[in-house]
Amino acid sequence: MIAMIGYEYGQGNDLVIKVRPCPSCGKPHEVTVNICAFENWVDGILPIQDAFPELSPAERELLLTGIDGDCFKNMRRNHETRLRLRFRNSPYRQKAAER
Ligand SMILES: [Zn+2]
Repeated sequence: MIAMIGYEYGQGNDLVIKVRPCPSCGKPHEVTVNICAFENWVDGILPIQDAFPELSPAERELLLTGIDGDCFKNMRRNHETRLRLRFRNSPYRQKAAER
């Protein structure tokens, strides 16, 4: 999956990738990458973490989904909360406690 909706040339070998607005907060974002690295990734030669080792995990997430770091953290927190609740209410856990 790639969230790119456009690009423009930056300085030197930079490519400024515009990604779709964050599905959670609606903010538009850009990620600047090296052109050769970008080609390696788009052509499937390198997985994203090898193509862009200099990017933060949050920036790589932006390229993939358009979800920015803050929203990603919030989503994960919400997910963890749901998981905790599910675990607490799980019939399997209650059965295990009865034994
Ligand atoms: Zn967001």
